[in-house]
Amino acid sequence: MSSLFPALTGAPADRPALRFGDRSLTYGELGAAAGALAARIGGTGRVAVWATPALETAVAVVAALEAGVAAVPLNPKSGEKELGHILSDSAPSAVLAAPGEELPSVVRDLERIDVDVHGTGPLPFGTADGEDPALVVYTSGTTGPPKGAVIPRRAVTHTLDALADAWQWTADDVLVHGLPLFHVHGLVLGVLGPLRRGGSVRHLGRFGTEGVTRELNEGATMMFGVPTMYHRVAQALSEDPGLAQALGKARLLVSGSAALPVHDHERITAATGQRVVERYGMTETLMNTSVRADGEARAGTVGVPLPGVELRLVEEDGTPITSYDGETVGEIQVRGPNLFTEYLNRPDATAAAFTPDGWFRTGDMAVRESDGYVRIVGRKATDLIKSGGYKIGAGEIENALLEHPGVREAAVTGEPDADLGERIVAWIVPADPESPPVAEELANHVAARLAPHKRPRRVHYLDALPRNDMGKIMKRALTAS
Ligand code: ATP
Ligand code: MG
Repeated sequence: MSSLFPALTGAPADRPALRFGDRSLTYGELGAAAGALAARIGGTGRVAVWATPALETAVAVVAALEAGVAAVPLNPKSGEKELGHILSDSAPSAVLAAPGEELPSVVRDLERIDVDVHGTGPLPFGTADGEDPALVVYTSGTTGPPKGAVIPRRAVTHTLDALADAWQWTADDVLVHGLPLFHVHGLVLGVLGPLRRGGSVRHLGRFGTEGVTRELNEGATMMFGVPTMYHRVAQALSEDPGLAQALGKARLLVSGSAALPVHDHERITAATGQRVVERYGMTETLMNTSVRADGEARAGTVGVPLPGVELRLVEEDGTPITSYDGETVGEIQVRGPNLFTEYLNRPDATAAAFTPDGWFRTGDMAVRESDGYVRIVGRKATDLIKSGGYKIGAGEIENALLEHPGVREAAVTGEPDADLGERIVAWIVPADPESPPVAEELANHVAARLAPHKRPRRVHYLDALPRNDMGKIMKRALTAS
């Protein structure tokens, strides 16, 4: 299999590739730096990458991919325990890091290779096969300890090319990026995606709405974000007409990693005239579905399966659901060239994740609308509440709660109940902590919008919801508290 990045050798050498703050690289410079580094990291095995939001991380991952060596991105904010687990699990031969970057002691035991973003060496380099691992990415740890998903090169190329088709993504696109680089969203979509297209990335370092405004005014065409970022955008829009104007210029705003609250989506559309395109993916599957750039963006849905991805909903006993009625809830299963090969060192977990005929069980529950659009209801493990004979998705109750003016953030869980089986519990961050909306008012608000049996029976008030580094709500932490 040839290079994942034809533009490294094919694009004009002075074409902008990456910009992080005030440091940048052209395609010519990136190719030279990656070529030099690829020569230093050899041709087999795995290397860890100390994945700070910096040029070095992008150069390191590109170099590993060019060398045919799998990259294992490390979250620099992880504690020693988590890093220790990832390092003993993935057994990298070295760690690639920016010069001067101080590494914690568990990482210092590894051979260190400093990344020189101004190195010079020739490309093309390796001759890896499509089934060879490109990356080992650890899942976000939202539902349990992170698992290392082994992602082959063909999954990366497949997903990036399928997204190019769905989003009409070209070399002219310039991405505004504010995500961390150790998960699929920020690394595969946000860095490898533009580089595979021959376009460019401008990373904000830390996400902020001023940075978004500036980059969009200076020619950026697309933005990728997680729902917490779009929430900040939605909040800022009312006081910042410049932000609304800048967002209005974007070609494409994309959200993923968690459900985008309908209320935030609607506020953004109202203020900017833009829709937000939602896509749905996982570490294990890369991208499964998306609203298409030329398709209708319906708030609360994640669009349709990407080209080459097979998707089905199944009942609890595994029977496929064939009716698209917008109501029948089933688990999403997917099959296709976008899938990972295995969880590293976890044959048990890998076997349990697949059906005998090769479908991956996502653990996400959804319905399909009559035209095939997928609407995610939530995760089987934490978001599906069985109450009074109904199966109720936490997501729609969260969406309804967020439409209450007194609610800033909301999460919904189930807890055991002698009568109902489970009862619905709401966890609320009030807009004004001095006068939070009372439980009865919230229950009535939900009952009036959805149905009486979907009203929360208990409300907890918090200063903030527990979220991980992707802004995902850690429901385990809520129910354990
Ligand atoms: P872990 O598997 O370690 O518990 P995680 O599932 O959060 O963590 P990721 O692989 O990063 O780890 O996230 C994939 C999950 O994120 C999906 O299974 C789904 O639940 C959720 N997700 C991703 N995109 C969307 C979306 N657009 N809407 C709703 N949920 C989404
Ligand atoms: Mg998961």
